[in-house]
Amino acid sequence: DCEITLHRLLKVISEPVVLRNQPVSVSASIGISIFPEDDTDPDTLLRHADQAMYQAKQQGKNCFHIYNLELDRQLHAHREALNRVEQALENEEFELYFQPKVDMQQGAVFGAEALIRWRHPERGLVMPDDFLPLLENHELAIRLDAWVIDKALQHMENWQSRGLELQISINITARSLQTDDFVLQLYYAFERYPATKPAYFELEILETQALSDLTLTSQVIKDCQSLGVQFALDDFGTGYSSLSYLKHLSVETLKIDQTFVRDMLEDDDDLAIVQGVIGLAESFRRQVIAEGVESIAHGIALLQMGCRHGQGYGIAKPMPASELAAWIKEWKAPAEWKISDPY
Ligand code: C2E
Ligand code: CA
Ligand code: CA
Ligand code: CA
Repeated sequence: DCEITLHRLLKVISEPVVLRNQPVSVSASIGISIFPEDDTDPDTLLRHADQAMYQAKQQGKNCFHIYNLELDRQLHAHREALNRVEQALENEEFELYFQPKVDMQQGAVFGAEALIRWRHPERGLVMPDDFLPLLENHELAIRLDAWVIDKALQHMENWQSRGLELQISINITARSLQTDDFVLQLYYAFERYPATKPAYFELEILETQALSDLTLTSQVIKDCQSLGVQFALDDFGTGYSSLSYLKHLSVETLKIDQTFVRDMLEDDDDLAIVQGVIGLAESFRRQVIAEGVESIAHGIALLQMGCRHGQGYGIAKPMPASELAAWIKEWKAPAEWKISDPY
């Protein structure tokens, strides 16, 4: 009933009053700290109330906010972590690793996926799952995606100059894709690396994210495709949604989620999903690639189902860019894959 009182109070305050024949409205932002839970010292209590008031203001006008120590600590820690990521971006602490993508049937490497790593001066190599979630719904995620595009093209140009023509894939969040000038920025990025060929550049977008604002996403995909770049729907099969949206997304490739591929040899349901996605790709005339190819046996099963493109620990783990060319030179497909006859 404290809340009810506060809502009433806010309502009364926000009612317009007439001053010199003009209606005037005011609003209030109320910050509250509670004695003795939050503190017993009057100055600290006032400071907490003040902080709570700023949070009320952030939530929009005419609100109240009750100080919460735990929440306050969490918000503070989150802000600090974001600042640290921003600093890392400025200090060039991020780095792209590359994981090869191969044509299992031909035994040829045709591309590589860029995967971000944070080379933290104290913590060592930090994996994306440990810092990307922090950036969710934050402008920094968009800046990081832009950095990835630039860096990936830089590597691509380098490989190209050494005669290595690879399809380079990057991961991009739907939020980045949906920013106003994404296509223009992508265009400028290619201008900065004139030797790169857009047709060899692929953007991987999560199936689940592509479905948010389908109209906008499908339009941006088309606009980017007119520059020549390609698209893949990542983690395909985890979206649980109607398949009819596929008709609206002109992506070239479906990328079967690794969890299904990894477990398909033991789990018939996973096998059915993998088989289903391969069939779907065929019906919709899209390419298909399997991630999570952890062994030779995975490759054999995929080839038998008609999926020849694969990526996974059984082929290679993601590696520093500097190691990729030598790995490609050395790699030979397992003999078991050559005799497998698709279809
Ligand atoms: P993803 O795009 O689905 O990438 C595949 C992840 O699975 C990578 O983890 C890769 O190292 C791992 N992986 C590859 N093959 C196998 C395998 O055979 N078995 C198993 N168990 N795992 C395998 P990583 O590098 O930790 O990346 C995790 C996720 O972080 C990525 O999932 C992607 O969603 C995101 N991410 C990575 N780099 C970037 C980036 O530069 N930008 C954005 N926006 N997201 C990124
Ligand atoms: Ca990916
Ligand atoms: Ca994936
Ligand atoms: Ca994933």
